[in-house]
Amino acid sequence: MIRENLLKIKESIPENVTLVAVSKTKPVEDLQAAYDAGQRIFGENKIQEMASKFDVLPKDIQWHMIGHLQSNKVKYMAHFVDLIHGIDKIKTLKEINKQAKKHDRVINCLLQARIAKEETKFGLSFDDIATILQSLEFKELENIKVIGLMGMATFTDNKSQLKEEFLSLKNFFDSQQLITENNNCKLQTLSMGMSGDYNLAIENGSSMIRVGSSIFGNRN
Ligand SMILES: *Cc1c(COP(=O)(O)O)cnc(C)c1O
Repeated sequence: MIRENLLKIKESIPENVTLVAVSKTKPVEDLQAAYDAGQRIFGENKIQEMASKFDVLPKDIQWHMIGHLQSNKVKYMAHFVDLIHGIDKIKTLKEINKQAKKHDRVINCLLQARIAKEETKFGLSFDDIATILQSLEFKELENIKVIGLMGMATFTDNKSQLKEEFLSLKNFFDSQQLITENNNCKLQTLSMGMSGDYNLAIENGSSMIRVGSSIFGNRN
């Protein structure tokens, strides 16, 4: 089913939207099945789980870290991670920068904006993002590049609320694009939308969707 699910989603989304196959908790056989169907971008939310999958799977996979980060574990993925989505502290950016430098790499990052009305979601306010991107301590970080923003909407079926949340991030993203462009910042990617809401996210400006259960089935 993984192959069918994947191909159906790929066919249904616009070409300029990137699909991240969220494979957290799933065995490597499932990732291999998606790989064999042509998928090359995988998203995981635990650093050590991602690193052990990286070790055994084909090396042309691009690994995205989509979970909340613990700074002390960044070192386990600094040599291979392709894009880190969920950054909500300048401290984390600094740690990524430090670890990237050790491997002579520039690691692509997305800052996570808080768009959900729920209390539990991580993320920065729009003001905090603007402040970070304008700050000198950010501009000095040479081994990271902020290529966009990421957001998670409220867990709800209320389409008008979801739309409002996605659109608020899209508008903020557009407003920051020109004024933040810098050596280590170029906002090009807007990561929003999961299995339940990716169509709505795309309609409202998403360029990268993170889809797990609609490809791999429900997680335990
Ligand atoms: C698990 C997860 C997803 C995918 O969720 P599905 O509903 O299974 O598509 C997307 N984004 C983040 C940050 C996640 O943790």
